Parts: sequence; C-alpha cells; structure tokens
Amino acid sequence: MTTILPLASLAALGYATWYLLLCATSPWGRCRRCHGRRYHRTTIGTRRDCHHCDGTGIRVRAGRRLLDYIRTEYRAGHQ
Ligand SMILES: [Zn+2]
Repeated sequence: MTTILPLASLAALGYATWYLLLCATSPWGRCRRCHGRRYHRTTIGTRRDCHHCDGTGIRVRAGRRLLDYIRTEYRAGHQ
C-alpha cells in the first residue's frame, strides 16, 4: 500500500505534464459533443451543425485555455 501511493501520484504528475505539453503544442482538440463529425443527428434523422464547435469539429482544449489564462495574468502583472 505504501508503494502504490507515490507511484500513483507520479503517474498523475506525468499525465498532467504530458497533457499540458500537448495543450501547448497542439491547442486544438476534437469536439467532445460531435466527436469531430461537425454535426449532430436529430431524432428525425436530419443533420444539424454542432453548436459547440460551430460545425468545425474541433475545440480549444481546456488545458490550453488554462495556459492562456495563466500567461495573460502573468503578463498583466509584469508590465
Ligand atoms: Zn462539435
């Protein structure tokens, strides 16, 4: 039990680092609502543009928004 906890936190830290690196290098992620298909199927079977990505199929990653927010705050404090 005592060896699993540090390993788990190390894995979480590694995953967080990997995710932030991914957000920094590739800010666009696939839209989670339409899974990159750009549209939704309605109940009657017609296609409808996805409102969450405006029909583009991609969205800015949440981690990238966090990085942008931190950068903006940092610059605002160092003028
Ligand atoms: Zn979408």
